Amino acid sequence: MNVQNIMTYLSAKHPGEAEYLQACQEVLESIEEVYNKHPEFEKAKIVERIVEPDRIFTFRVTWVDDKGEVQTNLGYRVQFNSAIGPYKGGLRFHKAVTPSMLKFLGFEQTFKNALTTLPMGGAKGGSDFDPVGKSDAEIMRFCQAFMLELWQCIGPDQDIPAGDVGVGGREIGYLNGMYQKLAREYHTGVLTGKGMTFGGSLLRPEATGFGALYFTHHLLEKAGKDLKGKTIAVSGFGNVAWGACIKATELGAKVVAISGPDGVCHIPDGITKEMIDYMLVMRSSNRNKVQDMADKFPDKAKFTAGKKAWSIKCDIALPCAFQNELSEDDAKELKANGCWCCCEVSNMGCQPEAIHYFQKNGVLFAPGKAVNAGGVATSGLEMTQNAAHLNWSEKEVDDKLHTIMQSIHEQCVQFGTQADGSVDYVKGANIAGFMKVAQAMLEQGIV
Ligand code: GLU
Repeated sequence: MNVQNIMTYLSAKHPGEAEYLQACQEVLESIEEVYNKHPEFEKAKIVERIVEPDRIFTFRVTWVDDKGEVQTNLGYRVQFNSAIGPYKGGLRFHKAVTPSMLKFLGFEQTFKNALTTLPMGGAKGGSDFDPVGKSDAEIMRFCQAFMLELWQCIGPDQDIPAGDVGVGGREIGYLNGMYQKLAREYHTGVLTGKGMTFGGSLLRPEATGFGALYFTHHLLEKAGKDLKGKTIAVSGFGNVAWGACIKATELGAKVVAISGPDGVCHIPDGITKEMIDYMLVMRSSNRNKVQDMADKFPDKAKFTAGKKAWSIKCDIALPCAFQNELSEDDAKELKANGCWCCCEVSNMGCQPEAIHYFQKNGVLFAPGKAVNAGGVATSGLEMTQNAAHLNWSEKEVDDKLHTIMQSIHEQCVQFGTQADGSVDYVKGANIAGFMKVAQAMLEQGIV
């Protein structure tokens, strides 16, 4: 395999699909050396097959807003790879959603899911529907209209969607209600991230953030450090940031910043439980403004418009919002302010130049597909509980999540340890995920 040749071919075939091409390039660069030691992969054209989704469903979603006006959006489900299990991955509702974005997310999901140790293939879906400013009734009508098309593509042994940006417990509830109505099948396991009254798992809402902090704990331990007393800048204030704030605080760190599209809130004394609870109110308001935190807690949080979380002095940066949210300039600013670790929690949250800057300048870095895998891993645990028709206790789920995150860290160390003893977590995560999926494809023939 020659990465340059494959990228030239893919860029010509999928022009303008920037995020998808970026994700492919990152993974292919990491695996090139290992891949070329396996002629059987080359013979079965594993790389050429693994970069293309198995199939993509595209559909029109038409619904009526509160003013009685007809609205039309586009809906998608990208079923990327089913070599190790049924398709699994979230749904993203955001105005910037395109096929390229969902292809990059489905591609990343394939390797992330392989790292979880659970049998789940990779998928992603969503819509360019913008939840900002929408009423609860509009959200419900949109979810129902979206499921009117999606239901035929999914099923408990086929494809199991969940939440992502813009899709949380409320949306999963509305989607699940409509699925049951249409399919007349009352499985509890068609979607994950469900409410506790209809088959949800304890800790699923917290799982991405909790898992990220468990991973960070193991990464710091390996580097001879720990979380106690460290300052953390978190970007975003949604579900993932919320879970990260809870666990970071519990483990003795101080979250000194959260952010939103409107700016950053600096919290010099560290985020409190009351403030963390308020993040849920901010999310369900659909206003998408972090300034609301400073308005509610003026003594504790200072809002600056137009600034990112990376402008706040911290030991550890946790991007928890959106792809490419941390640029090379942000990485330089963080480093200049004393930051020495960045664990990417959002999918592809750091631009490639930022990752190279961190790696060249001694900032510990781990990629999203390893750090944020606790979310989908706990979805996998939800599927197990659904299949067995039972519910595990919070401790049982938490212990399993922690064990999975520890195992993901170990896989990164196994495949990413360099000649000088340091760990390249990007390489480690990509190679570990790839080897599992590639092996499964190889053993199942040319399909
Ligand atoms: N959207 C989450 C992710 O990026 C969770 C997916 C799931 O639970 O299926 O991994």
